[in-house]
Amino acid sequence: MEPLTREKFNQNLEKRVERVIMEYKLLENGDKVAVALSGGKDSVLTLHLLHRFQEDFNLQLVAISIDEGISGYRDRGLKIARENASKLKIELVEKSFSDELDIKLDQISSLYKSTCIPCGVFRRYLLNKSAYEWGADKLATGHNLDDEIQSFLMSFARADFRRFSKFGPKLQKIHPKLVPRIKPLWKIPEKNVGIWAVLNGVEVHFAECPYSHQSLRAKLKSYLNNLEEKSPGTKMMLLESFRKTFKQQESLLELVECESCGEPSSLNICKACEMREYIDSFEF
Ligand code: SF4
Repeated sequence: MEPLTREKFNQNLEKRVERVIMEYKLLENGDKVAVALSGGKDSVLTLHLLHRFQEDFNLQLVAISIDEGISGYRDRGLKIARENASKLKIELVEKSFSDELDIKLDQISSLYKSTCIPCGVFRRYLLNKSAYEWGADKLATGHNLDDEIQSFLMSFARADFRRFSKFGPKLQKIHPKLVPRIKPLWKIPEKNVGIWAVLNGVEVHFAECPYSHQSLRAKLKSYLNNLEEKSPGTKMMLLESFRKTFKQQESLLELVECESCGEPSSLNICKACEMREYIDSFEF
């Protein structure tokens, strides 16, 4: 059997991503695409791949980085995000919980069972707001095959069927102020993303967030990795089952404008404003 060279690996990876882009029409000619860039391997690969497809689709690209306020962790990721954006000559917009929301994640972590809960809500809020303000047609995230299956199973375990509408490689534009997400790495296993970074000598932030162990996601990740090791192909089968399910769920979510901040929300007051009110009731 021929040894797998770096070129072959890259070609294979690009082909798999291109297939998803074409099959699900993730990109259209002239699209303005904002890329959520944390500096981690998934977001860095997403940025590099979209840069690679920039000419083919005549794309305008911007990267958006969010500083949640996690000391000893996020600074390194942001440095790597800046280096990658600058290398590819892509503008980087930097936002922080501290400037935009007057919050640092470290300060509020004790208020929640898992710090990932407020982190996810505020990060999604700022990413969408920043992408919308920049005029993005799409917001590309680095969700890979593993992330997607974990999210799917988490919603399944919580009987949160409304969230099924948020899965899939491309989300629909269901509100004028909600920038539709695309996930070019939807069919790429996490392991391959790491291999790409190492094979190509691309600097990425490999460190684990100090809060990640608190989440259900971390437990599921380890369970699924064990399962995949014992029965290779399990993750792909799960994605396939999920793909058949989400098709029927696309229109479950209807959005309105939050009465407090005007951002798109499924309730009269959005999750970010609701959390802000809860956090403001404590003194720091
Ligand atoms: Fe935020 Fe949780 Fe991710 Fe850490 S692991 S960056 S707390 S969502």
